[in-house]
Amino acid sequence: MHLKHINNSFKTFILFAQFIAILKPSYINRFGVSMRTIKRSRLKAPSVNTTKTKLAFCLLSATVLLTACGEQIKSESTPASPEAKSAKNTLINTDDFNIKAMVKLPQTVECTLENGLQTQCAQVVLKYQPDNIEVGPFCPETLDDVGGIWDWDGTDAGLYRLDKAFLTMLNEQGFTFYDEDGKVHIVDNATIRPTVEHACINVSVDESVEITALLPLHPVMSEQSTALGTVSKVGIALAGVPIFSDAPSVQHTGHLPALDTCAGHIDPGGWYHYHGTASDIDSVYKHEHVNANCNNLTQKPSALFGYGFDGYPIYGSQEIDGTSPTELDSCNGHTGPVGESGIVTYHYHASNTFPNLPKCLKGVVAQNNFTTTAQAGVGAKPPEGTKLTRHEPPGGGGPKAGGPNGGMLPPGFAEAANKLGVSEKVLMQAMQKAGGPNADLTVVAKALNVTPEQLKAALPEKPKR
Ligand SMILES: [Zn+2]
Ligand SMILES: [Zn+2]
Repeated sequence: MHLKHINNSFKTFILFAQFIAILKPSYINRFGVSMRTIKRSRLKAPSVNTTKTKLAFCLLSATVLLTACGEQIKSESTPASPEAKSAKNTLINTDDFNIKAMVKLPQTVECTLENGLQTQCAQVVLKYQPDNIEVGPFCPETLDDVGGIWDWDGTDAGLYRLDKAFLTMLNEQGFTFYDEDGKVHIVDNATIRPTVEHACINVSVDESVEITALLPLHPVMSEQSTALGTVSKVGIALAGVPIFSDAPSVQHTGHLPALDTCAGHIDPGGWYHYHGTASDIDSVYKHEHVNANCNNLTQKPSALFGYGFDGYPIYGSQEIDGTSPTELDSCNGHTGPVGESGIVTYHYHASNTFPNLPKCLKGVVAQNNFTTTAQAGVGAKPPEGTKLTRHEPPGGGGPKAGGPNGGMLPPGFAEAANKLGVSEKVLMQAMQKAGGPNADLTVVAKALNVTPEQLKAALPEKPKR
């Protein structure tokens, strides 16, 4: 097929999809990019703790010794009381997590990975937001105020500060977020349904929320990487804040769930989470010429930001020696030395473009790895008898398991992104930057670092009526 034909097919497809997308239920796609080799790296430590010597011994030992090491680690790491230095002897150093974000100290628990493997996980129980982190501002109250940031995916796509220049640009594109007096329409859409077509979403917090997350202590490489566009859940930051992939698109909901300048906002469930590598987000602002700084988290491009839900560590855009990482794979990760210890493990790096997160997860995640006591939002399992005062926003306000846009992306788009090893948002943005529905596919291919043939093969066919 010719590019031109594909172009037209795709254009028609997008137009068609816009009509049918809202009718389709969200779906979870678990296809991923095949890996040539299946690696097992159960005892490759993402970071090292006080048992360096023992771990080194375990790593060097024959298989027969592994069980013994594992049991020893496990027995020593089971906390008996809050006073106990919990999870001290595990591969993830839970001491690195922000204690001010914790409901209780992290524990080592038995868990089952999605491939059925019984193993151990670090269980972290987080508050709705850390006590020592001041979040926001999100929406600017008026055109004369300055709010957080937004990653605009319409015409003139890119990362913007939420200010007068940006909001008037959106107004020119038909998205009016303010009234005649310049007052911005701000709505807490977890408790109120917006009455305006375009509202800046600023969800109120629910201080009662507790979030329970499981991170595998012995990461296992998956046979297929999992594109984050389809799972949304990235990991947990050391700050004690969950990390999610792409926030919903204004194009699909009409509303704008504003991020603060650390790339975080409040989920419909009332808890704070990041949509970027917050500890290295200033590098993105510098690269994308956005006048913003993250004030709630120390900026350090070589720092460990957190752990993916597969247990692999996520670093900023630099190695510990300040050099740029090399030979990064499609998930923006590679195997190499990390941290002060220089231990060799698979790990992810932030990029300097938004969202500066891993593009996919290489490892296997634990079953039921994210639950909250919240009334709505991701992982919501409110305790029985909870009087519900919050609701799910209509496709916006927070990440959904069905996709980065609340499961509203065209069917087939997730697979296309997956085949190409990029997030749906990255693919959508590349299409939009290259001309929207009339995108020049050779330009898109170049932007995605794939061949035009690979792009053609991955893009969805024109749907048949
Ligand atoms: Zn590295
Ligand atoms: Zn969100």
